[in-house]
Amino acid sequence: MQGRPEEPPEQTDTTRSATPEGAHMTQTHPGVMPSLDSPADEDPDLRKQLAAYLDLNADDLIGFRRDLHMHPELGYTEFRTTERLVERLKEAGLEPRVLPKGTGVICDIGPDCGPMVALRADIDALPLPDEKDVPYASTVPGLSHACGHDVHTTVVLGAGLFLARQAALGLLPGRVRLLFQPAEENPGGALDILAAGGLVGVNRIFGLHCEPKFEVGQLGVRTGPITAACDKVYVKVNGPGGHTARPHLTADLVYALAKIVTELPAALSRRVDPRSSLSLVWGRMNAGSVANAIPDQGLAEGTVRCLDDEAWHRAPELMRALLHSVAGAYEVEASLEYVRGVPPTVNDQASVQMFKDAGALVLEQPDKVVTAPQSLGGDDFGYYLESIPGAYGRLGVRTPGGPEYDLHRGDFDVDESCIPVGVKILVATVLTALCELPGSAVPTGLEDSRA
Ligand SMILES: [Zn+2]
Ligand SMILES: [Zn+2]
Repeated sequence: MQGRPEEPPEQTDTTRSATPEGAHMTQTHPGVMPSLDSPADEDPDLRKQLAAYLDLNADDLIGFRRDLHMHPELGYTEFRTTERLVERLKEAGLEPRVLPKGTGVICDIGPDCGPMVALRADIDALPLPDEKDVPYASTVPGLSHACGHDVHTTVVLGAGLFLARQAALGLLPGRVRLLFQPAEENPGGALDILAAGGLVGVNRIFGLHCEPKFEVGQLGVRTGPITAACDKVYVKVNGPGGHTARPHLTADLVYALAKIVTELPAALSRRVDPRSSLSLVWGRMNAGSVANAIPDQGLAEGTVRCLDDEAWHRAPELMRALLHSVAGAYEVEASLEYVRGVPPTVNDQASVQMFKDAGALVLEQPDKVVTAPQSLGGDDFGYYLESIPGAYGRLGVRTPGGPEYDLHRGDFDVDESCIPVGVKILVATVLTALCELPGSAVPTGLEDSRA
């Protein structure tokens, strides 16, 4: 929810823009931008409004990202990051709400009622040392923003500050909710947002993740599954052991375990729709200690990955039933411990189209919107998409012609010009989504951009 306008704070930090967000929130006449916020008269074209905003604020946003990059924090310890966000949002006259555990922020922009679109950023870092030799390298030994969540946080903040200004000018056709989520890598901070009512009243949600395979200026989109569920399974088998000369008096446990390890994935592949891409792959098995003794216990451990939400929900029950039927044939006792990871992220078609339309508008060339590959990695954004439609996109972060850094590596870095690009994409996507929801009527600049 948008707060009361505030007086412009004193500008002492020279890295900040000359025109603080919120300095002119008392302006309410649509289409007229106060002269101090805008170098020229406000243009009705959204692209020009964004260009003017980013001319003034891109360096400041990059500075904000660098500050986060220098001070990475693990899941549920993002207190400093939360503080920085709260400061910036309050400066813009907004009323950020910190989640009950003390990290993560929910912040509403715009009127109290009407359609609402959410933007999500994850704010946590990884337990990996920063290997880069740059002035903004991590100052915390053993921790770094190697998944680009500092960029996600900055891009959502930048979009939110622009949208707050539009709201004050009467140019926001609905409500926007910023979700700064803790502990994505843990994983599970999305559940804290849900528990805090973060999706209540939200019609659609969007999020971006850094993609080092794509160049700056590209947006990767995909309808349907884009990231996978990844769960862990632990199978334990027990049965009477004995001498290998008399297997008929034992459960012949090693043989039975081998059958389970081969037959369980095979049976699953015949019981689940192949389009779900559900796969059970073992990483470890262990039984016995010598050649001529049949052991009385054994175990197998593996992962289940899946791109379909329904198949993911059914997987534990189905696997348990199949395990017992295979184990029963060899008269061993078998138990399954199934440890849930995150659900698959399944993008909604209409939301992906909004990403595409917005990307085509602000990235200038339509071929900058590309198809993102499916990943068998996970992201807890999938929890949001189990409740409401939305889309998770890939933000290109590689310098054209430059080296490709990988996520979750100590040398990961981005071309920081991805930050203004991300802001433009998110702003245009939010406005596109709001305009297509019933109850939104005010001009946004999109019409003039597309004219
Ligand atoms: Zn990650
Ligand atoms: Zn990530």
